Amino acid sequence: MRILKIYNTMNRRKEELIPLRENNISMYVCGPTVYDLLHIGNARPLVVFDTFRKYLERKGFKVNFVQNFTDIDDKIINRSAELNISAQELAEKYIAEAEHDIRGLNCQAPTVAPRATQVMDEIISMIQSLIDKGFAYEKNGSVFYNTEKFKHYGDLSGKNISDLISGARVDVNEEKQSPLDFVLWKPQKPGEPFWDSPWGGGRPGWHIECSAMTKKYLGDTFDIHAGGEDLIFPHHENEIAQSEAANGQTFARYWMHVGFININHEKMSKSKGNFFTLREIAEKYSYRVIRFFILSAHYRSPVNFDDVSLEAAANGLERISNSVGLLRYALENNSNNQTESEDSMEDNIVESVRTLAARFDEAMDDDLNTANAITAVYEICKFANTNINSKTPAFQIEEVQKILLELLDILGIEIDKPNRENQEIDRLVGKRQIARKNKDWATADSIRKKLSDMGVLLEDRADGIRWYYK
Ligand SMILES: [Zn+2]
Repeated sequence: MRILKIYNTMNRRKEELIPLRENNISMYVCGPTVYDLLHIGNARPLVVFDTFRKYLERKGFKVNFVQNFTDIDDKIINRSAELNISAQELAEKYIAEAEHDIRGLNCQAPTVAPRATQVMDEIISMIQSLIDKGFAYEKNGSVFYNTEKFKHYGDLSGKNISDLISGARVDVNEEKQSPLDFVLWKPQKPGEPFWDSPWGGGRPGWHIECSAMTKKYLGDTFDIHAGGEDLIFPHHENEIAQSEAANGQTFARYWMHVGFININHEKMSKSKGNFFTLREIAEKYSYRVIRFFILSAHYRSPVNFDDVSLEAAANGLERISNSVGLLRYALENNSNNQTESEDSMEDNIVESVRTLAARFDEAMDDDLNTANAITAVYEICKFANTNINSKTPAFQIEEVQKILLELLDILGIEIDKPNRENQEIDRLVGKRQIARKNKDWATADSIRKKLSDMGVLLEDRADGIRWYYK
């Protein structure tokens, strides 16, 4: 059996993925902070790690997939004050909005989607254990992590701790002992939400929630920790320091990070005016096009987001959709009842497609190379377009259709809609044919328009009408 390799940021090389427990993968992805609508940069880790999960599940792994929502932090508090609502109300609103986008992107719901405010007990007990073990100290209601105490600090990012200290600026107002120390607990400020703790009322710093959640849902040691490249330092470095010091065990065994999305070759930022919400891009293109665009590049390379790339993704999807439509058409109008036993000569159609499908797996096993996997999908479509028609034995078309749809399923790309809608389209196409035969052009045109609104394109061919989803 072929082995599955992923690039482990910790060791800076591709490594075979060997899970802690056979056939099980435990995986944690740092999710969004919910103070506004998701932006296009949020979409990349969501889509990439959802695709990885789908692929692992297809390979027979049971995946325990935890992805959090940060529902308490400075941005949430500031925004809720601006809007004159509670931080909790704001977070609830944007969690619902984020879930809408996540479903739109066709990402499977995580096994658990914990929120920071739901793991407050676990957060407080982990901070206490860090104080007890001498890795953290309290000062005037704040608790800080003493990074110099943790000898592996900097291992993930490859940063040198003394360089970091000499380069860091010390804010005179801060109560840290060293500039690299980071906050675990912040004291309550007037008018802000707070939780009771042994150090007085307050709220957690950002990093500790992920350490508390992984421990609660995945245990002290788990397989894969994932997130955006921008989280490597300091967020993930701090998570390791917290968890390994508190638990005395290796934290995550593999670290996966997705690269940046640039907007028109520039870093996305609100001040540059090149900040896009996922919602507005989905309205202009579609969630499906966004998903396909993200998967068209290898997850670790930076990608550039612009209209040209989105158009290219839309065109690519249309090519695939066209081939899926061709297979459906060839089956519906099939004139070959030959069965498998009668002649195995033609079986090479299925064999050829299986060979191309193996390339898909090969690419996915090589550090989730979805760009090459999509190339394999295009190859299958090209092969189907030239070698399959309504005279091809039906059982072979069915097999090719099954292979192709399975691969698209792993990518999370839905081409065909549920059967009921297909039947409705068939009915409308039939009605339009009758109208045309009767030279009732007005009816024929209005049906074509209706189908177009449903996202269906028609192709008038000498042997009938072929349709596919745009
Ligand atoms: Zn995190």
